[in-house]
Amino acid sequence: MAANPFSLDGKVAVVTGANTGLGQAIAVALAQAGADVAAVGRSGMDETAAAVAATGRRFHAVSADLGSTEPVPRIVAETVEALGGLDILVNNAGIIRRADALDFTEADWDAVMDVNLKSAFFLSQACARVMIERGGGKIINIASMLSFQGGIRVASYTASKSGIAGLTKLMANEWAGRGINVNAIAPGYFATNNTAALQADETRNRDILARIPAGRWGRPEDLGGAAVFLASSAADYMHGAVVPVDGGWLAR
Ligand code: NAP
Repeated sequence: MAANPFSLDGKVAVVTGANTGLGQAIAVALAQAGADVAAVGRSGMDETAAAVAATGRRFHAVSADLGSTEPVPRIVAETVEALGGLDILVNNAGIIRRADALDFTEADWDAVMDVNLKSAFFLSQACARVMIERGGGKIINIASMLSFQGGIRVASYTASKSGIAGLTKLMANEWAGRGINVNAIAPGYFATNNTAALQADETRNRDILARIPAGRWGRPEDLGGAAVFLASSAADYMHGAVVPVDGGWLAR
């Protein structure tokens, strides 16, 4: 174990959906802990690039739409070429569609499952092949409270986040013996674009806050510590865990 088991010095991390919200905060936290960062997404990464550069770590943006698996091989190849390796993957990119289950469309089902579940699995597979060659690595999936609960009006999102919890365990079972730790973080209610509709709805906002023992929405930087931990050698014996970072929501 390294002198500081939480240090990510010399590691290369891929973070999907790193232009904003939780992905951006995770990318910056990993860089602060010493990792170089490849930020994957379909939008401009200037803000994340500047924040990572401020830590003194290297940054590379990979332009990719994870609505299909087509960019997966390029994400891996570009990262290895630009940053010299690939040790950590954070599957963060995700979308949500809201409608009553009776009206839910196939388009809203497929769009969410493709980004949140299918691309996350096949990117994990591609990165795991590289990690195994390099002697190991860390994969962190971003799950949700809806990996544990049913939710309402978000059929495909609940299916995808319950699915990602299952896949976290499956991949952990298959790859633990190959030196890869696969775990997930389940964020509670965080103030980002993903939850803008809930924050704007006075009743939902009040009900959500009433159930959070911490008494406030999560801030993206609240996730950084868990991500650094799971990406570091301090978590070498953690496999298949889905770790809530939720202000106490699940404890209620
Ligand atoms: P966000 O601000 O909406 O960020 C989502 C990220 O995913 C953005 O970077 C977005 O890029 C990217 N993305 C979406 N579709 C993509 C695609 N087809 N290709 C590439 N990138 C794509 O929301 P967030 O809250 O930070 O969400 C991050 C993750 O946390 C998601 O998996 C979400 O489900 C999960 N989560 C969030 C909460 C919460 O309370 N906020 C709770 C539990 C779980 P664009 O900006 O280009 O759209």
